[in-house]
Amino acid sequence: MENKKKKYVKICPKCNSLDVKIDMQGALVAFGLPAIYICNDCGFKSYIFPEIDLNEVEK
Ligand SMILES: [Zn+2]
Repeated sequence: MENKKKKYVKICPKCNSLDVKIDMQGALVAFGLPAIYICNDCGFKSYIFPEIDLNEVEK
């Protein structure tokens, strides 16, 4: 029943970098708040980063 595994990665909407990580310093996740993601390349921060299918990136 399993589809081909899809792996989604966050992509920075500003510079299209895939080098996006969760900003752990916020540590708000423990309070049930959404995690803040931060782009390592341009420093863009947002609660919402678009996600893309990794299969489309590896072309
Ligand atoms: Zn960026």
